[in-house]
Amino acid sequence: MPEPLHKGEKTFRGIPVSAGVCRGKILVLDRARPTVFKRQLSDGEVNEEVSRLEKALVQTRHQILEVQRKVSEGMGKHEGSIFDAHLLVLEDRTLLDEVVRVIHEEKVNAEHAFHTVAERYASTLAAIEDDYLRERATDMRDVTARVLNNLLGCDEEIDLRHLKEPCIIISHDLTPSNTAQLDKRNVLGFATDVGSKTSHTAIMARSLRIPAVVGLKNASDQLQTGQYALLDGFNGVIVVHPTDQTLFEYGQLERKQVSLQEKLRDILLKPAVTLDGHRVFLSANIEQAADAAEVKGNGAEGVGLFRTEYLFINRDHLPTEEQQYQAYRQAAAALKPMPVVMRTLDLGGDKFLSHLQVAPELNPFLGWRAIRFCLQERGIFREQIRAILRASAEGNVKMMYPMISGLDELNQANALVEEYKAELRSQNIPFDEQMEIGAMIETPSAAIVADALAKRLKFFSIGTNDLIQYSLAVDRMNEKIAHLYEPTHPAIVRLIKATVEAAHHHKIWVSVCGEMASDPVLAPLLIGLGVDELSAAPPLVPAMKYVVRRLKLSEAKELADFALSCESGSEILARCQELARRIAPSLFENN
Ligand code: PEP
Ligand code: MG
Repeated sequence: MPEPLHKGEKTFRGIPVSAGVCRGKILVLDRARPTVFKRQLSDGEVNEEVSRLEKALVQTRHQILEVQRKVSEGMGKHEGSIFDAHLLVLEDRTLLDEVVRVIHEEKVNAEHAFHTVAERYASTLAAIEDDYLRERATDMRDVTARVLNNLLGCDEEIDLRHLKEPCIIISHDLTPSNTAQLDKRNVLGFATDVGSKTSHTAIMARSLRIPAVVGLKNASDQLQTGQYALLDGFNGVIVVHPTDQTLFEYGQLERKQVSLQEKLRDILLKPAVTLDGHRVFLSANIEQAADAAEVKGNGAEGVGLFRTEYLFINRDHLPTEEQQYQAYRQAAAALKPMPVVMRTLDLGGDKFLSHLQVAPELNPFLGWRAIRFCLQERGIFREQIRAILRASAEGNVKMMYPMISGLDELNQANALVEEYKAELRSQNIPFDEQMEIGAMIETPSAAIVADALAKRLKFFSIGTNDLIQYSLAVDRMNEKIAHLYEPTHPAIVRLIKATVEAAHHHKIWVSVCGEMASDPVLAPLLIGLGVDELSAAPPLVPAMKYVVRRLKLSEAKELADFALSCESGSEILARCQELARRIAPSLFENN
C-alpha cells in the first residue's frame, strides 16, 4: 500500500536503480489487454451491434495500413509486408461470419463475440506443432487487441520511440529492448512493478541516465496516466500529487546534487589513484559504438565491457558481419589508444531476439544462453568473431567470452577463434595477431576452476551480476527475493578473492564489470581484494573516481581482510558503508 510522505500525497516504494529525481506527468503503459465484458442485448440492439463491429473493423484496417506504410518507409518493403498477415485476419470471412452469427444467435455485444471467436481460433492455431501456424495465432491476437481497443474506444498502443510530451513512464515491466528504444528526450524517468538492480532494464536506465525505480509490486495498477508525480531514483520512491513541502525538500536535494556534480567535474581528468599511490584502472560499460563519447566525457580509461548483444536486438534480421565490423571498428577507432573489450554475444536470460524464434525455456538464465548458444549457433558466432577480429586491426581491441562455466567451453571457443583467424589469414584480411582474449567469471564453477582458465587467457572480468545470482541461487530479476541478493555475502567475497589469486598467480589482470564495481560502497572492498580494474556505466565513473581518490589502499586491504574472515554478509556490508561514508560523505547525501 502506498504510504503518505506528507498529507495529501501518495508514496510508492520500490528499488532505486538509476539515480536522479524527476517530476512530471505519468504515462501508464502495459495495462492488461482491455477487459472484455459480456452484455446481453435486446432484440432491437443486435443490428446496431453488428454495424459497430463493422466500423471497428474498418478503423482497424486503416490503422494497420498506416503502420504498414510507416514501417515500409522507415525500414523497407519487406518489413512492411509483415502486416499483410494482419490485414488477412481482417478479411477472414469464416472468422467474421462466425462473430456475426454469435452476435445474432447469442445476442451478445460485439466485444464479447469477437474476443470469444478470435481467441478460439488463435488457441487452436497456437496448439499446432507448426511454426507458421503459431505465428498466425500471434497475428490473430494482435489484430484482436486492436479491434477490441477500437470497440472499447481505447487508445492505440504507445510508440515508445516517439512520445508526444515529457512524461514518467510507468509499466508493469519493460524489456531491455523496450528500454533501448525509449525516446530519451521525452522520458523523464521510469518505474516498473517488477525487476531488480541488476536486471538489464535497470542497467540500461543507468547508462541512459534516466532516473528509475523498479520492484514497485502493483503500482502500475494504482497509478493513472495524467497524474502529476515525482520520481526519486536515489531512494526508490514515487510520490503522486507531491505537496509543496515535498517539492521543497526535493529542491534542496537537487541543490546538493549540483554541488556534488561540481566536485566530480573537478576530478574528471585526474587519474584514479588512491591517497597512498595505488593506481586503479576505471573503465566503462557500453552497449553501442555511439556510447564512445560518453566514455571519454566521464573520464573513463577505456571500455571494460561492450555488451555487443544490443546490436542484435530491436531489429528484424541478424546484423551482418560487415555491419558488426563497422560498429566494433567505430568504437575502437573513437577510443584509440584506450582499450575496448568486446564481449561476444550474451543472448538469452532476459535478452532475446524476436526474430530468432528461440523457444521459451523454464529457466532462461540457466539455459541456452551466451557462450552456450554461440557454441551451437556456429554461423552466428563465426560472423561475430570475424567482425571483432577485423576490428582488432585498430590495435586496441580485446575480446572476452560470457558465461564460461569450465575449461571445455573455453577450449572449444578458443579453437573456433583459431579457425576463424586462419580463415582471415588465408583471405589476407588484417587483424591483430596479439589481440588479448579473456573470459567473464560469472559462474561459481568458473571462479572455482579459475586457475585452469587463467593459464589459457590474458584477463578475467568478473561479472558479479550473474556470479551473485548463480552462487546464491537468487534470480537477479525477481523483486520478491531482491533482499537475498547480497553482494557482500561471504561466499561472494571468497569467490572473488579466489579468482583474483588465480589470475595474479598466472600474471593476468582482473576486472569487475558487474554492478558491484559501480557501487561506491562496495568498490573499496573490490580494490582491497586485489581487483585491478573496475568497469561501470559511463555516468557512474566520476563517482567511482571520487571514492578511489579519497581511499587508502591500506584501508581497502584491511576491509578485505575483515570481509574474508567474517561469517556474516550484513556485517561486511556495514563495514563497507562505514568506510565509504567516512571517506566520501558527499556521495551519500541523497537519502
Ligand atoms: C554480469 O553478469 O555481471 C555482467 C556484467 O554481465 P550482464 O550484466 O550483461 O549479464
Ligand atoms: Mg552476465
